[in-house]
Amino acid sequence: MSEPIPQLISVSNARQPNAIGHHVELRGWLRTRRDSKAGLSFLEMNDGTSLGNIQVIAPNELPNYESVVQRLTAGCSLRVYGTVQESRGQGQATEVVATQVELIGPADPETYPLQKKRHSFEKLREWAHLRPRSNTFGAVARVRNRICRSIHDFFQELGFLYVHTPIITSSDCEGAGELFRVTTLDPANIPLRSDGQVDYSQDFFDRPTFLTVSGQLEGEIFATALGKIYTFGPTFRAENSNTSRHLAEFWMIEPEMAFYELKDNMDLAEAFLKRIVQDVLDDCKEDMHFFNDRIDQTVLATLHNVAESTFHRISYTDAIKILEQSNQKFEYPISWGCDLQAEHERYLTEKEFNAPVVLFDYPKLIKPFYMRVNADNHTVRAMDVLVPRVGEIIGGSQREDRLDVLEARMQEQGLLPENYWWYVDLRRYGSVPHSGFGLGLERVVQFITGMPNIRDVIPFPRTPGNAEF
Ligand code: ATP
Ligand code: MN
Repeated sequence: MSEPIPQLISVSNARQPNAIGHHVELRGWLRTRRDSKAGLSFLEMNDGTSLGNIQVIAPNELPNYESVVQRLTAGCSLRVYGTVQESRGQGQATEVVATQVELIGPADPETYPLQKKRHSFEKLREWAHLRPRSNTFGAVARVRNRICRSIHDFFQELGFLYVHTPIITSSDCEGAGELFRVTTLDPANIPLRSDGQVDYSQDFFDRPTFLTVSGQLEGEIFATALGKIYTFGPTFRAENSNTSRHLAEFWMIEPEMAFYELKDNMDLAEAFLKRIVQDVLDDCKEDMHFFNDRIDQTVLATLHNVAESTFHRISYTDAIKILEQSNQKFEYPISWGCDLQAEHERYLTEKEFNAPVVLFDYPKLIKPFYMRVNADNHTVRAMDVLVPRVGEIIGGSQREDRLDVLEARMQEQGLLPENYWWYVDLRRYGSVPHSGFGLGLERVVQFITGMPNIRDVIPFPRTPGNAEF
């Protein structure tokens, strides 16, 4: 009888008991090699499909045992043929007895950075080209992927339309002046007008343009035509803040819904976060146990709590009262009219409620022009969702749908309605109450994995002074 044709299989699948007895081909990278006195080598092999490795047993009868197998080093790539069998060792269901081991690409042990010892996350950032091969970053990449799938599933199942909003824009949605400029003008030779100002008529787009800070305004265009939409794309903010939760380039999910008022918006945000959390708990068990063991021992309990709890909803005004009465020493003192700092957000969600909190009805003075003004004329229909450790994870609002109020708000904030003529038109023609929010993808990944720094939950972080890779 001839040998069965080997079946190409992932490490993840080879680790399942139903692979036992199969003749397989594995492709991946070597994590470690251990030679036993009994004339065998144990190869821990990983291909990124799961946190756990497959253990390959290479017997010394292999023709290249001495010339190749015993010289394999961490990081090299290899192909293995063999048979999956029940493992006699602890901690794994299966192992593979090799009939053939091929070295594909060697990794010089003198210089390969990811040796067995553990490296700090700071150090690993310098090796962003190799860090996905480490346990932590492999697990982050898989969880991040699962979250993205969950995001699309959630909205698609509810009939939301996925819309692509532009990356290059001439409007500043947040009005916060944290924009990256996009230009083809030569910095060494900027054309000037007779009044000394930059002559943008010579620039590519015939006007100043920037990388988008949010797709919301364009999202509203589609929501007020197609009902329920969401965007999911990169967003850029030139905030010169070196914090553990800010990036200069991050991914944002922004649903926008016609006929939704603030309460509908909160309900959607809560269901959305719970769905993501539940999907990760269901489908990323091995990775999540790793995070819980190695990164943050509260992570699983927090996620179960989020999936099961009802989010607390309190007004900004009530939140300020709680903070003022808390007797807590804050670095930034707090009073009505101030924007909350991370420390205040965390106090509310970690200490006061020990659950996610939705704050709503913020002072109009600290919020952008597009948020709907309440009858009290002091607050706007804004909402932020706060979660333990991370603080603000979602920011959203019911939008101002009244033409006259919107124009007045723009003027108050020094914006010219003419520059936003198309946005204002949405209130002129068939205006409807509508709402939406923005969820920062990296903040969710950070929250779910427990990773302390946002730079370690995106493949290639962009922060002040860092844009290598
Ligand atoms: P923060 O107050 O935390 O700086 P923000 O109020 O400026 O955030 P929004 O404009 O409301 O943020 O953006 C919506 C969401 O995008 C936030 O809730 C957050 O999840 C995410 N986000 C905002 N800025 C950043 C950033 N620099 N890096 C990563 N995520 C961000
Ligand atoms: Mn916000």
